Amino acid sequence: MPTSPATRSRVKPRLSFRLVPGLPGEKPLLEVCEHKKKGPVFAWYYLSPLGGAYAPAWALTKSACTDGTDPTERSYEVLCEGGVYSCTCKGSVRHGHCRHASGVEQLRKDGLL
Ligand SMILES: [Zn+2]
Repeated sequence: MPTSPATRSRVKPRLSFRLVPGLPGEKPLLEVCEHKKKGPVFAWYYLSPLGGAYAPAWALTKSACTDGTDPTERSYEVLCEGGVYSCTCKGSVRHGHCRHASGVEQLRKDGLL
């Protein structure tokens, strides 16, 4: 009797977010911790609010030691439009969500931004 191949669902590692105060004169950082099986993987993004009356927005610039999921990109913009967060990264454009938008949303829910 033929057996069907085992279906493997790809479980994405859990993410957690934290606001790290910057050094004096530097911007604060969004810390993204990806809880992988082999251990946590960290990424850091400098956060700076973008001016503009349209909707709250932030620039996220990778720290020097962060490659992230797309090493060719160094910064993104996260926009909160009517409570919906979006980002300029490829992941957000393709899938409608990403770690950057989720991170900013979480920090705002925690009252940190
Ligand atoms: Zn993004």
